[in-house]
Amino acid sequence: MIVISDIKEMQRFSKAQRSAGKSIAVVPTMGALHRGHLSLIQLAKEKADITVLTIFVNPTQFDNDNDLEHYPRTFEQDKTLCEQHGLEVLFIPHVADVYAPDFSTWVNEEQLSDGLCGASREGHFQGVTTVVSKLFNMVLPDVAIFGQKDAQQAMVIKRLVRDLNFPIEVVIAPTVREPSGLALSSRNKHLSDSERQEAAIIHKTLNYAKVLCFEHKAENLEIVRQFIIDEIETTSGKVDYVNIVRQHDLKCGLIFDQPIIIAVAVFFGKTRLIDNIFIDNE
Ligand code: AMP
Repeated sequence: MIVISDIKEMQRFSKAQRSAGKSIAVVPTMGALHRGHLSLIQLAKEKADITVLTIFVNPTQFDNDNDLEHYPRTFEQDKTLCEQHGLEVLFIPHVADVYAPDFSTWVNEEQLSDGLCGASREGHFQGVTTVVSKLFNMVLPDVAIFGQKDAQQAMVIKRLVRDLNFPIEVVIAPTVREPSGLALSSRNKHLSDSERQEAAIIHKTLNYAKVLCFEHKAENLEIVRQFIIDEIETTSGKVDYVNIVRQHDLKCGLIFDQPIIIAVAVFFGKTRLIDNIFIDNE
């Protein structure tokens, strides 16, 4: 496995591989790797000749300095995991190289980013779309792999790629979970044992809500939404949002009989967890 930090070196490497006829997949992450990230590497390996996993804790997508400062960083462990999983390239650019002191160019997506996490975390998606565009220009991939756990992010990236004509195929990978159903997340490291047990309520309730959606039909989705909030709040979890939105545009409104996503964000202590479930209402 090669470890690259220098941006120009990364570009040179990718150009050389492409000239040699090799395809490249990128897996952008913020590190503190878990089985979810490793599943993205597996998928990347099926899609391209060379996989580049990036680790970059992107300051511009945090709306809270404390959250950024305490974001888990486990570089040595991450490196070992990547090696064990047959990764070809680990790319870890430095913050000072990614953001010049007078950095002043941003990429904004203006529809899908509005609600859900975009409404709760000001500037978050501007940070995401900007850094992902930059990583695409640094790694020059043919394929980019993202996780369904961050469903809004995945949709925003797909829109970004379409709207700005990046010649990249975006592939979305299913969410990897603990046996309890809790979605794996780097932030789970911050949970106490009891919070981790309690947080399993999120997936359990979303699964049950899916059944309720079919029973109540779409006109009564508010009942379903309230049910989810009530269930989660039987634990120490504090709901940031529970939203039921259309799959195609992430908006509420007229969603009768349309494919929907139920997306939630919940605080356990100071740790904010997100999860979702897709429901294809036929
Ligand atoms: P992060 O390091 O949390 O920014 O995540 C990097 C990538 O891994 C994103 O595309 C996430 O959607 C994806 N990811 C995070 N958690 C999981 C999971 N439990 N299962 C599958 N993919 C995930």
